[in-house]
Amino acid sequence: SFAFILAIMLSKIFSNAFVSVENLSIKLMSLDKLKDEFLANTSHELRTPLNGIIGITESLLEGAAAIEIPLSVKKNLTVVSSSAKRLSNLVNDILDYSKLKHRDLQLNRKALNLNEVVDSILMVFKMSMEDKQVILSNEIPENIPDIYADEDRLQQIIYNLVGNAVKFTESGEVNVRAQAKGSFVEIIVEDTGIGIAPEEIEDIFKSFEQVDASVARQYGGTGLGLSITKQLVELHNGRIKCESEIGIGSKFTFTMPVSLEGYDKRAVTRSKL
Ligand code: ADP
Repeated sequence: SFAFILAIMLSKIFSNAFVSVENLSIKLMSLDKLKDEFLANTSHELRTPLNGIIGITESLLEGAAAIEIPLSVKKNLTVVSSSAKRLSNLVNDILDYSKLKHRDLQLNRKALNLNEVVDSILMVFKMSMEDKQVILSNEIPENIPDIYADEDRLQQIIYNLVGNAVKFTESGEVNVRAQAKGSFVEIIVEDTGIGIAPEEIEDIFKSFEQVDASVARQYGGTGLGLSITKQLVELHNGRIKCESEIGIGSKFTFTMPVSLEGYDKRAVTRSKL
């Protein structure tokens, strides 16, 4: 009957459509893999020449006084050096993105003093702030317990959060605080910058996500920083969240496990008293 033939025709069309959707998704997956491999390989290849540029400009700048390089040349060298460093950070972000995606990132954990890590990062920003009117402060208590983390990765997490805070604050304050909460330490990076709209907050932790193209163009960036930051925090069994209000500022809070070694040391100190 007609209905029977129609049913067979429809089922053929649907099964073909299903097969082609399946084929398409396999194709998309292999294209996605190809994209990641291309990104990872190109980034890796870019690292060596970039390190050459950074190394040579740095050594020229260091010796600038001795070989009497004119001020204008020195200024240009500084631009070359900082541009190469920015490019190098970008390349490293892409490499980290690919390592994290393929679960290929190893942590080398040890007990770390949070105050030392934060102080050294704030110093870098204070030195490179140029004409921005942003006050940076470390308000972490002296007696905060050591945390158990990979030093480079912890630096990267805090560097990304403080970097964003400074980037999105024209004038005002950026401060870092921390408090112990059981077996975790809660670390807060708060700024008085432009803020993030409530509907955007969830998306900022996704890869390649930027709140709005015009803001991103004004401030630069890849939209990888916070996605990498979140994944690095979670690799340490920590959590990260963001609270923000447009025009008031943003507050990023993340947790890191307390070092057991830290606990032992405090027990020893206490038993001595
Ligand atoms: P990017 O490299 O573009 O800065 P991120 O992943 O670090 O990428 O951040 C994603 C987006 O989240 C940013 O483009 C910005 O729109 C928003 N954002 C992140 N941190 C802040 C902040 N402290 N204040 C305001 N907006 C922020």
